[in-house]
Amino acid sequence: MSQTAQTVSEDGIIASVSGPVVTARDLDARMNDVVYVGDEGLMGEVIEIEGDTTTIQVYEETSGISPGEPVENTGEPLSVDLGPGLLDTIYDGVQRPLDVLEDKMGSPYLDRGVDAPGIELDTEWEFEPEVEEGDVVEAGDVVGVVEETITIDHKVMVPPDYEGGEVVAVESGSFTVEETVVELDNGEEIQMRQEWPVREARPTVEKKTPRTPLVSGQRILDGLFPIAKGGTAAIPGPFGSGKTVTQHQLAKYADADIIIYVGCGERGNEMTEVIDDFPELEDPSTGNPLMARTSLIANTSNMPVAARESCVYTGITIAEFYRDMGYDVALMADSTSRWAEAMREISSRLEEMPGEEGYPAYLAARLSQFYERAGYFENVNGTEGSVSAIGAVSPPGGDFSEPVTQNTLRIVKTFWALDADLAERRHFPSINWNESYSLYKDQLDPWFQDEVADDWPEKRQWAVDVLDEETELQEIVQLVGKDALPEDQQLTLEVARYLREAYLQQNAFHPVDTYCPPEKTYLMLTTIQTFNDEAFDALEAGVPVDEIIDIDAAPNINRIGVQEDYEAYVDELKSEITEQLRSLY
Ligand code: ADP
Repeated sequence: MSQTAQTVSEDGIIASVSGPVVTARDLDARMNDVVYVGDEGLMGEVIEIEGDTTTIQVYEETSGISPGEPVENTGEPLSVDLGPGLLDTIYDGVQRPLDVLEDKMGSPYLDRGVDAPGIELDTEWEFEPEVEEGDVVEAGDVVGVVEETITIDHKVMVPPDYEGGEVVAVESGSFTVEETVVELDNGEEIQMRQEWPVREARPTVEKKTPRTPLVSGQRILDGLFPIAKGGTAAIPGPFGSGKTVTQHQLAKYADADIIIYVGCGERGNEMTEVIDDFPELEDPSTGNPLMARTSLIANTSNMPVAARESCVYTGITIAEFYRDMGYDVALMADSTSRWAEAMREISSRLEEMPGEEGYPAYLAARLSQFYERAGYFENVNGTEGSVSAIGAVSPPGGDFSEPVTQNTLRIVKTFWALDADLAERRHFPSINWNESYSLYKDQLDPWFQDEVADDWPEKRQWAVDVLDEETELQEIVQLVGKDALPEDQQLTLEVARYLREAYLQQNAFHPVDTYCPPEKTYLMLTTIQTFNDEAFDALEAGVPVDEIIDIDAAPNINRIGVQEDYEAYVDELKSEITEQLRSLY
């Protein structure tokens, strides 16, 4: 978080303290100003001003501070530090690097009033200029590059609020983020570090219709419910249904350049898991550590509630910064329910009129403001970049009718509904194919047609139809049993079973099956369709359904997922299936 508040305005004094909410009197402040509260100087943000009374949400534990203590206004909005050093770092909700804080404190439990800059101020980065004296640059333009991590080149840009002008001096070599590397004729100086207020979207030229999928390597997502680069998705699911595993799979395998993972107040130990796990993970596309393209924002539920409220803004602002460099960024928020609960708690402390289930009336507006910042954009520097936003939702009791799920559903265009029953039956990923949807399907089809196969949409539709038919047939089976069904319907159930077991299920923990390229997703479907077509031909030729179902080759459909050399395997399997079925008549 920004350390350079220079314009210190008139101080006020604390009037009351109620958990994370403090009121102050006589404070000269504007909405969203950052203030330091009490003798200990706890960081807070102005959230309401009424006459002489200013209401502040405090990002740290407030016990022990009392009325009469001073409140100091920085006169600056809540901002993040942006620059090299964001990646491979774990932050708390107000961008304090956890490792730095731990070193300062000697314990993982953050003490109050401890602050640290968002990016290392002492580190020197090798700046390679991309402009020369005499060049004219505008806001957003790239003036140079530093190697931020082994995976990512960090583009140093003219800050969006600069006027721009002619370059009169340019440096090359090792510099800290606060040293000037480029000077302009109008006196503007460019450093590697910039600041941006978290509650304000960074400017762009245009939001475009996204037409490229964020390929996840997860069959059910890419195949049935794809998300676009720059798209929005929600993963609601009860405890234990696989939200975290799905988010991790996306963080690992989605073909985004940059991953921002916002762990928002999940149970303390779960977040610790993420903090412990992520640094161990390998980026499958480069072999480098995954953290080399990742920034983690971690707020466990034992951290103060207001920091939880701000963490998604910190995350999306960092995401926008890398988007401005022309990168595709995927932001994962786990879970937005905890974020909404933080809003609810603060709202109730403010004694605002509660809306549905005690959530503030502005819940829907806040959710949509957040997801609105996702998109596929033309940046101000002419590059294109994207922010995809994927939010986990943890509805109490898995009840999707609650306000956070419902309001999220109205905004996001991809919905991956996790299902407790499927998880219980160990069907993973336990994404319910009847309830889930993607509104990007049609606009992404041309990409899949060009890159994978011309009949990608038809194949998908075929699978969807078979699964729909199965759902209907299952109702009859419940009543009268499978054997009472006509033979063709029994066969449909068998085909649907392969779709479920081979295609929809995918083992995140199997070294090969964990990632399924779209080509393999497609070939798996064509294999099941070969079985379907040949089996119905056999049925028509008078072969009893039991004999058809029983052919030796069929169960191998369920082994495609774990094959590394899947093309050869699928070729052979298709001919075996065809041969064995044709030999029956
Ligand atoms: P949640 O975050 O919703 O509480 P988790 O993501 O922790 O649930 O998943 C619970 C368990 O379900 C995991 O520990 C794992 O055993 C299993 N699981 C979830 N998704 C998969 C998957 N794709 N493949 C294999 N196992 C899975």
